[in-house]
Amino acid sequence: SSLSPAGTAGDALGVLQRVFGHPAFRGEQAAIVDHVAAGHDALVLMPTGGGKSMCYQVPALLRDGVAIVVSPLIALMQDQVDALLQSGVRAAYLNSTLDGETAQRVERELLAGELDLLYVAPERLLTPRFLSLLDRAPLALFAIDEAHCVSQWGHDFRREYRELTILHERWPEVPRIALTATADPPTQREIAERLQLEDARRFVSSFDRPNIRYTVVQKDNAKRQLLDFVQAHRGAAGIVYCLSRRKVEETAEYLAGQGIDAIPYHAGMDANLRAANQRRFLRSDGVVVVATIAFGMGIDKPDVRFVAHVDLPKSIEGYYQETGRAGRDGEPADAWMCFGLGDLVLLRQMIEQSESGDERKRLEHRKLDALVGYCETMRCRRQVLLANFGEDYAGKGQGQPCGNCDNCLDPPAAWDATVAAQKALSCVYRSGQRFGAAHIIDILRGSDSERIRQFGHNQLSTYGVGTDLDARIWKSVLRQLVAHGLLDVDAEGYGGLRLTEASRAVLKGESQVMLRKPSAARDRTRTARSS
Ligand code: ADP
Ligand code: ZN
Repeated sequence: SSLSPAGTAGDALGVLQRVFGHPAFRGEQAAIVDHVAAGHDALVLMPTGGGKSMCYQVPALLRDGVAIVVSPLIALMQDQVDALLQSGVRAAYLNSTLDGETAQRVERELLAGELDLLYVAPERLLTPRFLSLLDRAPLALFAIDEAHCVSQWGHDFRREYRELTILHERWPEVPRIALTATADPPTQREIAERLQLEDARRFVSSFDRPNIRYTVVQKDNAKRQLLDFVQAHRGAAGIVYCLSRRKVEETAEYLAGQGIDAIPYHAGMDANLRAANQRRFLRSDGVVVVATIAFGMGIDKPDVRFVAHVDLPKSIEGYYQETGRAGRDGEPADAWMCFGLGDLVLLRQMIEQSESGDERKRLEHRKLDALVGYCETMRCRRQVLLANFGEDYAGKGQGQPCGNCDNCLDPPAAWDATVAAQKALSCVYRSGQRFGAAHIIDILRGSDSERIRQFGHNQLSTYGVGTDLDARIWKSVLRQLVAHGLLDVDAEGYGGLRLTEASRAVLKGESQVMLRKPSAARDRTRTARSS
């Protein structure tokens, strides 16, 4: 493009400084920019906030012609383009939100070589009309953003992404750069294969976000726990993720009623209100947005101080991407999650009752298992998260814990829960393997409830054998037994607990069960930082 004479070594840095106002490249950026500017293909795996945009925006300015940026997120194109225009870069976007006249003007600019970057939605790009326009335009490169959308197993699958190989087939000499923040090894392989980028150089950044502190608490009274957490961050911008639209509405209302500047965001809202809420979150200080995962893909707000999950996400990749929206400015930020057995039961049922095929269901259950493993781990959470991305965390020397997660800051105590586990398992067995945790706990604790009497469960030999532990501890025991595969959830039915193959050894006294001791103080603690 026109901003800099091509071909001198200092160019890339010059563009970065003059145009974008950044003093230096970060991490792998310099290597990626050089590689793409020289006309080679690249597959870039970089965490959210890592600075992926520079990896194609700088080469776009270094190379002749226009860079075509494929992005699935219509809402974000405008933000990106506005920011570029403000930096003096000739950028535009084409998607279904433009009126005909504006679209025609953009097309004219494209053909006249008057654009440095053009953002386009994949469905638009793939139209024969647009492809033939590209035949007549000078092309600098293709950038394929959110490249994991090509993966059928990912959480953002877009059918059109599968057809993007046409770019390579039709314009083999134009370099391509595919970028994503979702980078577990199987997804990496799938992206390379599906986009025909097997020969592209791979740039894998560390996914560690050292300024984010990870905390998981046991769900007891989720609303109250959330309020405490949010109040400890009073005045800070944050995102609260919920599973359903209804829960989003309820939670936002609850927080607002408690004096928090909280607003809802989900795909079912009126589009104008939703856009207004997003703008307010982006532009004002200290707004808390309560949202479904529809919110945030690509949100570039550097000073988000916390991301809270009051419902269990579906996978570690999803969780990591969502929490990655915190602390992009490098300042301390919190990723907090409130987790209970009910979440797990609900998600298991959602998977079972979905339309997906068996293979897909199995995969989703496995992903959920991995996430639950993260929630229940006694190890450094950062190590567990990064291991999921094939990364051996070595931030403080080989195998050292991070010092910035709840488990590092306040190491959990383990206790020998063998006897408790035996009581719980035999209680599940004797009550017919069809009741949920709350009822099992009632039996163990010898509660005199209506339901207990109705089923005659006060006659069971296990009735009242667990009065030595309080309900909170039992809750944690049952949850961990499920997490460790010693109990199973009947997800096709009503979500009752049942024994597994592995339960038998425990019941026979052949294996020991070590569990994490719940700490009331810790679960109530707002964050380790504010304690
Ligand atoms: P990603 O797309 O990987 O999530 P972005 O491209 O949106 O990340 O960049 C994240 C933030 O980092 C943005 O605020 C951006 O301005 C900033 N950034 C990117 N590269 C640099 C750099 N080299 N120096 C300083 N800030 C940078
Ligand atoms: Zn840690």
